[in-house]
Amino acid sequence: MIELPVRDPCDLCEGMAGREERWAIIDESEHTLTVINPWQFEVGQCCVITRRHVATLLDLSREECATVLASAKRVAEALVKTYEPLGILTFQNNGVYSGQETPHFHFHVVPRQKGSDWGIGPPQLATFDGAGRQRGTPHDPGGDVQRRERVQVSARQLAETANRIRSNLPK
Ligand SMILES: [Zn+2]
Repeated sequence: MIELPVRDPCDLCEGMAGREERWAIIDESEHTLTVINPWQFEVGQCCVITRRHVATLLDLSREECATVLASAKRVAEALVKTYEPLGILTFQNNGVYSGQETPHFHFHVVPRQKGSDWGIGPPQLATFDGAGRQRGTPHDPGGDVQRRERVQVSARQLAETANRIRSNLPK
């Protein structure tokens, strides 16, 4: 059974209701919003979220599935134009055992740059040579608390980042 994380109130629903200070919308569609991720492990990292409060991929309708990927592609194009990244990482967690922290569907879209230390992000990247450490050097979780603080940029910076990406969305 997939165990869901508990977060009450849901931070994404709070954002949609205008009650989240660190909230900036990049793109909108009938079924989804693309928003800046308040945790900027990579500058410009964002998420496509469903307008409906549903937890996982298993809860999505066909239309939502299609729109999520189309929205992810749109913002990926804008990220390439804005940051000229070395790669675009997408990932999505379902259940606490997969690393899901918010019980509201969100699909991560992340522009990857050389030398960034993802740290507490996806484990496959924590050991990946291109994640900013020398090959064979494991991620040291000792600095994760400080890392979590460091990547929390101000609401104003988040809004500026969102504006920049939005200006490069395909017409
Ligand atoms: Zn929600």
